[in-house]
Amino acid sequence: MKGEHVYIVRCGETALKGQNKPYFERTLAQRIRRVLSGFPETKVERSDGLLFVRTLDTVRAEDVLRRVSRVFGVDSISPAQEVDIGGTTDEQALSMLGDAAVAWMKAAVADRGDLTFKVVSKRADKQFSIQSPDIASRIGGRILRECPGTRVDVHDPDVRLHADVRRGFAYVYEQKISGFGGLPLGTNGKGLVLLSGGIDSPVAAFLMAHRGMLIEAVHFHSYPYTSRQSQEKVRELAGILSVYCGPIRVHSINILPLMEQIAQRCPEEYTTILVRRGMVRLANLIASENDCAMLITGESLGQVASQTAESIVVVDQAADRPVMRPLIAMDKVDIMETARQIGTYETSILPYDDCCSVFLPKRPATKPALEHVLSAEALLDEETWMRQALESLETEAIRPRDEL
Ligand code: ATP
Ligand code: MG
Repeated sequence: MKGEHVYIVRCGETALKGQNKPYFERTLAQRIRRVLSGFPETKVERSDGLLFVRTLDTVRAEDVLRRVSRVFGVDSISPAQEVDIGGTTDEQALSMLGDAAVAWMKAAVADRGDLTFKVVSKRADKQFSIQSPDIASRIGGRILRECPGTRVDVHDPDVRLHADVRRGFAYVYEQKISGFGGLPLGTNGKGLVLLSGGIDSPVAAFLMAHRGMLIEAVHFHSYPYTSRQSQEKVRELAGILSVYCGPIRVHSINILPLMEQIAQRCPEEYTTILVRRGMVRLANLIASENDCAMLITGESLGQVASQTAESIVVVDQAADRPVMRPLIAMDKVDIMETARQIGTYETSILPYDDCCSVFLPKRPATKPALEHVLSAEALLDEETWMRQALESLETEAIRPRDEL
């Protein structure tokens, strides 16, 4: 239809979900509607395992492509030319599809100069009597005859022009812009990420959201030992994450009351592990109040003293629900690469003061035994530090910065 842009969205793993397929597709369509809600009269429809997005032609393609390609569950998206072939004979349909393909290639040559091409065709409607190889060769023949400046190259063409025949409609498209794959947000419960200002925890949140988990965050600071800027940095990171994960509620808690008690009462070597366990205890509470079934951390095995196998066992014991550690087996360089890809890296590397660095022990225990840690922890007045810490709780919903 005139005045409209059409995009084909492929659903990747969502398409494999058997009986639940309609549910996953519906959820994905809703997510796409939401990220495009700033563009009036946009429609998202499901058809035979694909999603079709229609916007007014005044909406810039790059805005649609950027937003939709970031929606989890989207495998790829293609801006397409749609041809209405309802009520035509198959020969007429092929001729109309050929017209669209020729027009597409003429525009491409006008834009980019001489081009080699290959037509790739697909016949999703098996009732269509002309087979895919014939569709491709007949359309390819027309392009050669009718578009000066084109040449066939089946191995490494400049343009791989797709010509797909579906029921009632046919499509011409060239690009396939990759999405992140994964599963639509909201199809796998909600998790609470322990979000520091570092490189790792934003990546951990991203990876869990990528599997369909809604995300909420808790951040621990120790103001005034840590600066207001470090809290601002965490809000900034949550803002970047929310582009993928939707609005994120960030709970901030001052854990100075815990740190001071540890400094006064416990052996110094256990400081880090006791702080970690304290964070997990507070996270348990925040998680249960906000229906988060799991905790998420950015820990990676052996990365620092508090992330040895022994330390992780001791920290885990303080959790009252499963702790997801999606980075556990990843190398730092790979985590950094993902952080760059999702756009959190530049913010994460800004210098900031982590609450854990305030009372950092000179020699942290790297292989803590649970019973020793528990006896050190018994020296704390848990009721008091927890009450004091929770008095500082602030909650804020952070919204994606460029969602209209
Ligand atoms: P990150 O880059 O995520 O800060 P890291 O390599 O610095 O991780 P640690 O400081 O040992 O590692 O923290 C391990 C995990 O504990 C973090 O990934 C995060 O999930 C959680 N964590 C650490 N500090 C905080 C904090 N101040 N607030 C919330 N969570 C934290
Ligand atoms: Mg850190």
